[in-house]
Amino acid sequence: MTDAVFRNFIDGRLDEPSATFDSVDPSTGAAWAKMPAASEADVDRAVAAAHRALGSGPWRRMTATARGKLLVKLGDLVAANAARLAELETRDTGKVIRETRAQIAYVGDYYRYYGGLADKHEGAHVPIDKPDLDVTIRREPIGVVAAVVPWNSQLFLSAVKLGPALAAGCTIVLKASEDGPAPLLAFAELVHEAGFPPGVVNILTGFGHDCGRRLTSHPLVSRVAFTGGPSTARAIVRNTAENLAYTTLELGGKSPVVVFADADLDSAANAVVAGIFAATGQSCVAGSRLLVERSVKDEFLARLKRKAEAIRIGDPQDPATEMGPLATLRQRDWIEKVVAESVARGGMLVTGGTRPAGSGFYYAPTIIDAGGSDLPCVREELFGPVLSVLAFDTEAQALVLANDTPFGLASGVFTSNLARAHRMARDIRAGVVWVNTYRVVSPLVPFGGYGLSGLGREGGLDTIRDYTRSKSVWINT
Ligand code: NAD
Repeated sequence: MTDAVFRNFIDGRLDEPSATFDSVDPSTGAAWAKMPAASEADVDRAVAAAHRALGSGPWRRMTATARGKLLVKLGDLVAANAARLAELETRDTGKVIRETRAQIAYVGDYYRYYGGLADKHEGAHVPIDKPDLDVTIRREPIGVVAAVVPWNSQLFLSAVKLGPALAAGCTIVLKASEDGPAPLLAFAELVHEAGFPPGVVNILTGFGHDCGRRLTSHPLVSRVAFTGGPSTARAIVRNTAENLAYTTLELGGKSPVVVFADADLDSAANAVVAGIFAATGQSCVAGSRLLVERSVKDEFLARLKRKAEAIRIGDPQDPATEMGPLATLRQRDWIEKVVAESVARGGMLVTGGTRPAGSGFYYAPTIIDAGGSDLPCVREELFGPVLSVLAFDTEAQALVLANDTPFGLASGVFTSNLARAHRMARDIRAGVVWVNTYRVVSPLVPFGGYGLSGLGREGGLDTIRDYTRSKSVWINT
């Protein structure tokens, strides 16, 4: 039984879908809503609308200050509608309501931040060595942007693309994931209410192989902003071989959290537990590899086990629930397979490795003492509530283990030794190093990965530049 119907938002209007698919509530496993499955023709209409809005009409003539005001208004609308958006995200993805509420509360800040930046992005006058020539560098919107996001944190991951793109004067077609698109499709109504002209923002959902492929290879698209997994990123790069769009990729991680014996072990244990079990481990920055100094390993694991076993699992809409289900059945199947393989090859379960009783795609908080670093639970991004533990004896060993991954998104270091914290922060190959804290983000700070974790950065002052291109104008005076 489905009780809700959602629509794509194309050219300033809610669109009657030509095809639909069921969206499943992960806490029950039952379909609860009909989602529009955008076809290639729908994508073509959306891109054409974005292209029209870019080339003529009110958006093209709008000043940067006016664009900024629209973004600020959108941020305010997100904040005012946070409760409804959070409820939808929780329903469609299983992420617990206390987390969706907290995250959406700061999504509004991202729009306000980019709104403030819109009229502070300047071109330049260049004093070249030819007195008769006057050279200026204009920064122009790069064009139509195709943004593609995964199912976790869709409102947040869209804000870091829509914000700078719109601040720069681009237009955009945003594809919500086919898993859990409800919050983004509902957000489209706020875009309309904020007053963006038709075609400037188009939001649709559909499947990767047709809708996503068409969008990212479309000849009228000049910029692709993707967040998702590395194998999809490779498909995206093949798609953009067709339109040669400037592309940024925010991908997965296998982030190390290094705990030295001199750390405040209680606060480190809280951070490690939150770092892996928040969002049921379905976070690109999940601290999924714990590297702990051997002399405190047993004591630290005992603390983690107690805390993991005390996590309240249940109905994600209940504010008391601390961990919800995985977003999809396929995700749970994958996690179960990797955990079983890792245990068969010598990994020791400290806790978890089971499905709690009842329906829904639940999986218990799991800790595996991995022994060696070649187990699949240590190598693969699981995107689930599974922490793999390795021990080290020296700082040098800790660093080697931390960097022993093709990913490089985030990392954590827990120590009371300031010089060591600086050394580790310098030598860890990851886009983020959190020292004596974990999983803090801000619109003011760039975010992105090394290696298989991606290409480019989102957030901070420089991002807006990635949505512009320069034009040099040479005037013979
Ligand atoms: P995914 O890569 O399977 O899907 C992401 C999006 O790509 C979806 O909208 C999907 O429809 C689309 N897609 C799939 N095939 C496509 C194709 N051929 N062409 C165009 N689009 C296509 O990712 P997922 O499983 O939904 O999300 C989990 C992944 O996302 C994890 O690897 C996670 O680490 C990563 N992630 C990264 C960040 C970050 O900021 N670095 C944030 C959140 C999630």
